Order: sequence, then C-alpha cells, then structure tokens
Amino acid sequence: MKSTTRQGGAATRWWRRLVNRRRPAAQRCRGCGICCDLYGHRLEARPDDRERWLREGRLDLVRRIAPDGRLWLDRAGERLLDDCPYLAREGAEAARCRIHATKPALCRDYPTRAHGHRCVRGVRFDR
Ligand code: SF4
Ligand code: SF4
Repeated sequence: MKSTTRQGGAATRWWRRLVNRRRPAAQRCRGCGICCDLYGHRLEARPDDRERWLREGRLDLVRRIAPDGRLWLDRAGERLLDDCPYLAREGAEAARCRIHATKPALCRDYPTRAHGHRCVRGVRFDR
C-alpha cells in the first residue's frame, strides 16, 4: 500500500513536469501600455465596476460611464473619448495606469482565455 502511494506520487510529479514543460512559462507585463492605447476607448463598465466605484466614493469614475455602459465619457459627461484618460504615457515602451488599484474589470482580467492568455504584445499570462 505504501509503495503504491509512492508510485502514484512519482507518476503525478512526472505528469506535472511534462505538462509544465509543454506550457510556456508565464511572463511579466512589460508595462508598455500598448493594450491601453489600442483598447482603452473600447471598454465597458461591468455592474461590479460601478458598485465598487460607488463604494470607494469614486464618483469621478462613475460619471465617466455612458448610459449604455461604455467608457470613457469626458469630464462633462457629454462625449465618449477617443483614448483612455487614465493612461499616463512615460515613453514609447513605458506607461502607467493612474487608476490601477480600481481599474475596470475588463482591464484587470485582460488577457482572457479568449485571447489565449496572451496580450497584444504576445506576453503570456497565467490566469
Ligand atoms: S499587457 Fe501586454 S500590451 Fe499590455 S502593458 Fe502589459 S505587456 Fe504591454
Ligand atoms: S483604465 Fe488603466 S488599464 Fe484600463 S485602459 Fe485605462 S490606463 Fe489602461
């Protein structure tokens, strides 16, 4: 009984090693902001985004949600912007999200399984 358990453990370890070898290792986001440049004006707020922003007192963000859920309205709440207003570009390859801690769920979850867990730069993320 004892040896069977040990064999099972060895088989499991062997299987895990095989699977891990075939799956490319996750990489780190390069912080280039290219995904934000490309998609930052095509976002939608999910109901939990609105609820979180209300809870956090971020009415400035709530006011940027269009009636149909699209992001981002201008400060006056009148017109949809062509770019995400929270992207702080610091160079061609460097950018920062100014609302990183509470960014929309769509940004937080990107890239999803539908993207093959790879962002537009080809960086692989484990989710
Ligand atoms: S997810 Fe990809 S495209 Fe977006 S900032 Fe990170 S490396 Fe750049
Ligand atoms: S909210 Fe942040 S992560 Fe989302 S598009 Fe704008 S800058 Fe990028």
